[in-house]
Amino acid sequence: MINLSGKVAVVTGGARGIGRSCCLLMAQAGARVIVNYRKNVAAARHTVEEIQGQGGEAAAAQADVSRPEACRELLRKSAEQFGGVDILVNNAGIWKEAPVEKMTDEQWDETMAINLRGPFLCCREAIPYLKARETGRIINISSTAGQRGEPLHSHYAASKGALQSFTKSLAVELAPHRITVNCVAPGWIATDMCEEPFRGEGRKAIESGIPLGRVGRPEEIAATVLFLASSLSSYLTGEIINVNGGSVLCG
Ligand code: NDP
Repeated sequence: MINLSGKVAVVTGGARGIGRSCCLLMAQAGARVIVNYRKNVAAARHTVEEIQGQGGEAAAAQADVSRPEACRELLRKSAEQFGGVDILVNNAGIWKEAPVEKMTDEQWDETMAINLRGPFLCCREAIPYLKARETGRIINISSTAGQRGEPLHSHYAASKGALQSFTKSLAVELAPHRITVNCVAPGWIATDMCEEPFRGEGRKAIESGIPLGRVGRPEEIAATVLFLASSLSSYLTGEIINVNGGSVLCG
């Protein structure tokens, strides 16, 4: 039922974790995919090869999303390689612990630059391509932290909360162009990002607070992204979709 044939998707941080699952699932639905990475070229190659091995089309593209020229190049590469952009998934992000009274300016700025400025820069560069298609999908990966906050990660929570209001603003601004803009807000998902908190008894303790009794899998976030990327979500814009096993019932 979901068919992304003829569509081109750009996924930031697409080589690993949630982004990788988004790339694989959208490619399985027929999209041609640009797999963005910052450092991990081996993981990006592996994701591209896996897609190609399944008969799909994909290409890796290095870009640090905190840098304006890099984002311009990333979207240009998509246009060059696959003829445009239909779907932008702003997934790249970092999550680093820092108690607020000890947080350095650099720590604050790094998180904001990747988690918030990155989506802004990629949207700015993608929108002309999306407008040219007279349709489009922007999907921003936020976090439960964006709504309820997160102790020791206040910069992260602030970046993800701002990403939600950025999403709502763009949804209205871009609606006349038939571009929808939505957020997916994951809870705890088993990726490299959570290696540290899941160590030892950590994972069990976290899972005891989740109504569904377990952390999520990357493909469970990708499934919602796939729905938002598809024509099934044509009347849905400006929404924050929580995918967290019921752990944050804050609406
Ligand atoms: P991972 O740490 O597994 O992967 C992060 C990805 O982001 C990597 O592919 C990395 O690329 C990329 N990345 C980081 N910085 C940059 C940058 N400056 N430019 C381009 N790419 C960059 O994280 P997850 O898959 O878990 O997280 C994906 C998104 O989901 C993030 O936005 C995160 O905040 C959000 N999220 C995750 C949750 C979880 O529990 N896992 C919960 C809630 C939200 P490279 O390897 O090349 O450096």
